[in-house]
Amino acid sequence: MSAHGNVLEMARQQLAVAAKYLDLDSGLHEVLSKPKRQLIVNFPVVMDDGAVHVFEGCRVQHNATRGPTKGGIRFHQDVDVDETTALAMWMTWKCAVANLPYGGAKGSVKVDTHKLSQRELEKLTRRFATEINIVIGERGDIPAPDIGTNAKVMAWIMDTISMQAGYTTPGVVTGKPIELGGSEGRTEATGRGCIVAMEEAAKTINLDLNGAKIVVQGFGNVGSIAAKIAVEHGAIVVAVSDARGAIYNPNGLPIHDLYTRFSGKDGGILEYKDCEQVTNEQLLELPCEVLIPSAISQQLTKENADKIKAKIVIEGANGPTTPEADDIMSDKGILVVPDILANAGGVIVSYFEWVQDLQNFFWEETEVNEKLSKAMRRSYAAVDATMHQHKTNMRQAAMIIAVKRVAEATITRGIFP
Ligand code: NAD
Repeated sequence: MSAHGNVLEMARQQLAVAAKYLDLDSGLHEVLSKPKRQLIVNFPVVMDDGAVHVFEGCRVQHNATRGPTKGGIRFHQDVDVDETTALAMWMTWKCAVANLPYGGAKGSVKVDTHKLSQRELEKLTRRFATEINIVIGERGDIPAPDIGTNAKVMAWIMDTISMQAGYTTPGVVTGKPIELGGSEGRTEATGRGCIVAMEEAAKTINLDLNGAKIVVQGFGNVGSIAAKIAVEHGAIVVAVSDARGAIYNPNGLPIHDLYTRFSGKDGGILEYKDCEQVTNEQLLELPCEVLIPSAISQQLTKENADKIKAKIVIEGANGPTTPEADDIMSDKGILVVPDILANAGGVIVSYFEWVQDLQNFFWEETEVNEKLSKAMRRSYAAVDATMHQHKTNMRQAAMIIAVKRVAEATITRGIFP
């Protein structure tokens, strides 16, 4: 089993729980537990020193019943096809919870981008896009950014696919720069959506967010924006981290400064001095009202779940909580807002971007943010109601909604031929 074999196992366990609640037909359960298509590619790149390096990547489409498949592309040294499959499956559920007309997909390349020059990164991206061009497309499967990729990488993918098509196809990826058909508000969408989820969760447990202490793991796209917007809403962010470590100040950190002056620079946030340095493991256990894991999967486990002090966990990352940790935190009365709901803001605004691209008609940021907020609150309310109806936790409630919607779509369409 690969290093991430258990992430796929974790995704399948979550599906099995929902299938039981729904008394799902065993054949349908099997359909949903497997990816529809996995394309694995090994491709060469000529590095700056002239050496040829072969990289491994994949594009996995989990389910296309409700519409074209949608999901990010991850560049990370530890990613593999099993983890990518789990992430594709979570995208199917996430799109269904948000009621978007999409199925789920994910792509990845096993690479440490910190070791590449910009030129190497561009060449790798363009070659990978060419390799997976046989399965992606604006009507069939639409990638977006994830860990290790960003708007610039999306621009290269869009350009590569357009060069091969002979005309510009902005709808083939989302998360593009605004000037190339990107949407206002897309970069901030996932973090912004996390904060909408946090507000809704706080209401249900009567938690005043003004002055509430927030801990954020990961200071990338999702974590840094969530931290910034949380502060704008009056909360105090006491700890943040990146892959190298975490910083903590119980009186609050200057998030705007960290974002503009430290993040993305050589030493990163650890260069900031008016704080205590702690590890990523210690960060998760710090006293706070809200914990927002926004880095990688399997951070809250049976080893540390009992030590989590937060009242609310907002899963900015995909798969940060293992099933054992879920049970422990449920028993402790911690409200865990699951990834497929909490971080859906990204794919919701990706959907808006795709709609704008297909119509060549672009919206203002206020309109995007209003529609995002409405979609998040509507999804949150549906999951909350299902949670009370089935007397379960939020993850299982979100899974029940998602699996039911995909299963019903499958039954209505029928199994071809
Ligand atoms: P990113 O690459 O911008 O940021 C990732 C952050 O996590 C960085 O600060 C990095 O240093 C940190 N990190 C990496 N390895 C770590 C480790 N071992 N321990 C602690 N920190 C570590 O990525 P992102 O787009 O912000 O994505 C973060 C998470 O959110 C991922 O799980 C991703 O799948 C999920 N997500 C992203 C989006 C999106 O729109 N970008 C949407 C939904 C979900």
